[in-house]
Amino acid sequence: MSGLKISERPSPNHDSRGDVIAGTPRIDMLVLHYTGMQSGTAALDRLCDAEARVSSHYLVEEDGAVWRLVSEERRAWHAGVSYWMGETTLNTLSIGIEIVNPGHEWGYRAFPEAQMQGVEALCRDVITRRRIPAHRIVGHSDIAPTRKSDPGELFDWPRLARAGIGLWPQPGAELQQRRGRGVGVVERACALADLARIGYCVDAGTEAASLAAFQRRYRPERWDGKLDSETAGRLAEIRQAVEAVQAVEELAKRDRFKSYRRVN
Ligand SMILES: [Zn+2]
Repeated sequence: MSGLKISERPSPNHDSRGDVIAGTPRIDMLVLHYTGMQSGTAALDRLCDAEARVSSHYLVEEDGAVWRLVSEERRAWHAGVSYWMGETTLNTLSIGIEIVNPGHEWGYRAFPEAQMQGVEALCRDVITRRRIPAHRIVGHSDIAPTRKSDPGELFDWPRLARAGIGLWPQPGAELQQRRGRGVGVVERACALADLARIGYCVDAGTEAASLAAFQRRYRPERWDGKLDSETAGRLAEIRQAVEAVQAVEELAKRDRFKSYRRVN
């Protein structure tokens, strides 16, 4: 496993992924969390406590040490009530990684370099083996924006993207000047369509929370949930990046189909 050292700390909190087709469950999402507890030990204890009924597949300590709690073949219980790109049973089709950090409740702080190295190595290993596409690597707050804010605005998504993990295109040069500027009716409609197209849940009850989750991740300087012109521009950039990934996937699928037709 590419030099990645993983220690075992089995959690009882898992069940079947169900719906297994030809022995291969569909696993094509990666969900990143912070633990939001006072220490890594407390988080490990809770994630392995049968009464807590929560878990994840992996946990990464602040020093970069990686624990496996649940086998990837099994469904870990990390996402809870959640939504992404029209789907809601996200525990069934995802791998969950908990990253030790006290979180907003206990003194949210930057993720240390050693920890980010561990996260990067683990993510790379998982997405390579599972072929998880970039637009399906998400934070917990992306898929449960009204309940969750992890891994939060200090999480270094740009660094992971530079390492080929997830989407984080550089913002266009003119975008920052649009911060705080209002949007018109048409721009607003387009922006909300982009938000939904990227994968977020957008309805009357979730719109502001989904915008805040998007900002935490893609414009972390201000995540007030208000749709200003900078956020609208950033939404268009990310939507285009998602569509580019999907277009490449579509093409690859077609090529596979063509070679299948040639053989059969
Ligand atoms: Zn979480």
